[in-house]
Amino acid sequence: MKLNTAILLEKIDRHLADARLSPEEQLRKRWAWIWILSTLLGVIASIVYFLFFLNLWPITWSGLGFLVGYIVALILYTRVRRFDLVINITFSFFTIIVFLAMLQTGGLSNSLGLVFVGINCAMGSVLAGNLRWTIAMFVLYCSTIIALGIAEPYLHTPDYITAEVNTRAFVFLAVWINACILFLVVLFMKDKSRYEKAEAEKLKKLDEAKTLLYTNVSHEFRTPLTIINGIAEQMTERPGNQNKNEAQKIKIQSNILLRLIKQMLDISKIQAKGIQLNEIHGNIGKYIQYITSQFESLAETNRVELKIQSIDENIFTDYDPEKLMEVLANLLSNAIKFTKPGGSISVSVSEKRTDDGPCVLILVTDTGCGIPEKELPHIFDRFYRVRENDSQTPGTGLGLAVTHELVELMKGKITVSSDPGKGSIFTVSLPIKKTASIAEDDGFSNIKSVDEQLVTFIHKESAVEKLQNYQPDKPLLLIVEDNEDVLEYLVSVLESNYQLELALNGKQGLEKAISHIPDLILTDVMMPEMDGFEMIDHLKSDIRTDHIPVIVLTARGDFDSKISGLEIGADHYLVKPFNKQELVLKLHNLLEIRRKMQLKLGVAQVVPDGKQEYRQELKFMGKLNALLEKNIENEDFGVPDICLAFNMSRPQLYRKFKALTNTSVGKYVRSYRLQKAKQLLASEGINVTEAAFATGFKNLSHFSAVFHEEFGCSPSEVNKNKT
Ligand code: ADP
Repeated sequence: MKLNTAILLEKIDRHLADARLSPEEQLRKRWAWIWILSTLLGVIASIVYFLFFLNLWPITWSGLGFLVGYIVALILYTRVRRFDLVINITFSFFTIIVFLAMLQTGGLSNSLGLVFVGINCAMGSVLAGNLRWTIAMFVLYCSTIIALGIAEPYLHTPDYITAEVNTRAFVFLAVWINACILFLVVLFMKDKSRYEKAEAEKLKKLDEAKTLLYTNVSHEFRTPLTIINGIAEQMTERPGNQNKNEAQKIKIQSNILLRLIKQMLDISKIQAKGIQLNEIHGNIGKYIQYITSQFESLAETNRVELKIQSIDENIFTDYDPEKLMEVLANLLSNAIKFTKPGGSISVSVSEKRTDDGPCVLILVTDTGCGIPEKELPHIFDRFYRVRENDSQTPGTGLGLAVTHELVELMKGKITVSSDPGKGSIFTVSLPIKKTASIAEDDGFSNIKSVDEQLVTFIHKESAVEKLQNYQPDKPLLLIVEDNEDVLEYLVSVLESNYQLELALNGKQGLEKAISHIPDLILTDVMMPEMDGFEMIDHLKSDIRTDHIPVIVLTARGDFDSKISGLEIGADHYLVKPFNKQELVLKLHNLLEIRRKMQLKLGVAQVVPDGKQEYRQELKFMGKLNALLEKNIENEDFGVPDICLAFNMSRPQLYRKFKALTNTSVGKYVRSYRLQKAKQLLASEGINVTEAAFATGFKNLSHFSAVFHEEFGCSPSEVNKNKT
């Protein structure tokens, strides 16, 4: 009868189940229990053997001691949580019994093999998984052995333990202990491989479920997108339509989504073995040349040279034109995408003999940014994008995964070698076969559309290029966003209410914020060169820009980044996809708060208490007031001195001051002097001349005129009315 270990183990697990234990502890509990049982069987066998066959009743007592220990341990084992303690205490007890029994037999050499029983105890402790107890158990066992070694000359071996009896008992115990260890190891290994198989199965199922989800979701997206695409197309074709541009944009964006969906569906179909090859027999060199030539205009638009280096036009083999086109299109569009203007791409096709037979070698070489070595093993994974490139170029990380699957479907191989900063070489090798039927046109008519491959590249007039919106009466908003599409959308939403300034990364954003001192900043977080948080950090620690309210716009909706954004000083946080109204409202509210603050700060106040806790804006005003206070008697003190003191240019100071107070610095300085003069005039023992001189007015009639203009009364009236 075949022992079904899986069922047996399941039964044992059910018997030992304890909800308080972790799966790992449960596993250890199982193996320690099996060890207890297998050694128990040995103990019962040895009691019988020693008693009936060797007639050694005097040492059978130790076996009985073991029996008592086992019974207590087995009762406790399923009841208490600390099964490891049960094992360790029981086995310590056994070690001591064995020690006493060996003292009785006359030491190690006449131990009847009981010396092995100590090893059994230590093994049990290892399985229980409590390291401290295991060490203690080994120390105890070794101590008993050392003690027995020292005591041996003084011990007496009873007459009934003859050399023959000793040998037989030794053999019996040695065989038993080894059998127990072997049994355990075999079971353990079987269990481990079963565990690994179950894990692999679980992962496979998870992967299948994911693929199914992608497939279903993609299918659901495809229908509405196709309808959107169709309507957009109709709109672009309708004569006299004013919104042709917008319709064209909808069409491009929905095409990009449709392409992504196609790639997702392709990948799941290939994996589910649902895609068949439709091969024809033809001239593959000519065909590749044709496909490559389709990308020339795209390369030209991107100012990249596309060369057909060497194409052997005499290679005839079986190939699936559509799938080969997909492979080439992915490789070529990537090469164009990741090569800077001025770079070059070359394609070559040749025949090569390999150990597996003749094959076609297709090489796509570019002088682009290259791929770091550590990323190379992953680039054929689904959704994998090289970190350094991902925020600068559009893409999803699916193209190469599909390419890889398609090449494998064609029984070919794809490899890549790359030198970061210098370029990459993608090599596809396909076996040469001659079984399909010959196609007259080498498969050209099978190609549905190369255009579809190009949608992500359609040259768009960038938002930065397009922006011409000098509207000085509107608030200046700086948008910092690296994604051209999002930028374009933001411009379309905000251009009617704001004068816009655009930056494509944090570094550029910071430079523009310092040079233009905008009224508001709207920024993305993940950007090349300098991310949004770093930019905000710089802005908020620079006196020229620390007052500018910032709204962070990001796809990272997690709490931590929200907190760090707000901690650094962002005023609001919006998670993409954001609601247009919410964005407009938040920007408007921030300006409203500014306006209220301007009303308060615009009136010059001689702040008496310099220790007051100021917010960033008040801090600036406090500093300015202190500066004015110090130089109040100095008639010549003015805007140039303030610029110097704050290390700002005149336009920077002007914009910052205007944002804080909605008034000019010059006016504020004058107003400050007059407030101070009014205060002095109201105090005892100061006349008009003294008050004017003390506040930097050397010309009395000018003082009287501006005083009147500011307060609607003359300085002497204030001076007279004091109480
Ligand atoms: P996508 O281009 O949509 O991001 P792919 O699967 O086609 O996805 O490519 C995965 C990643 O491999 C890309 O994001 C890019 O970082 C890198 N890569 C692919 N081709 C090239 C290339 N010719 N030069 C540099 N990097 C490349």
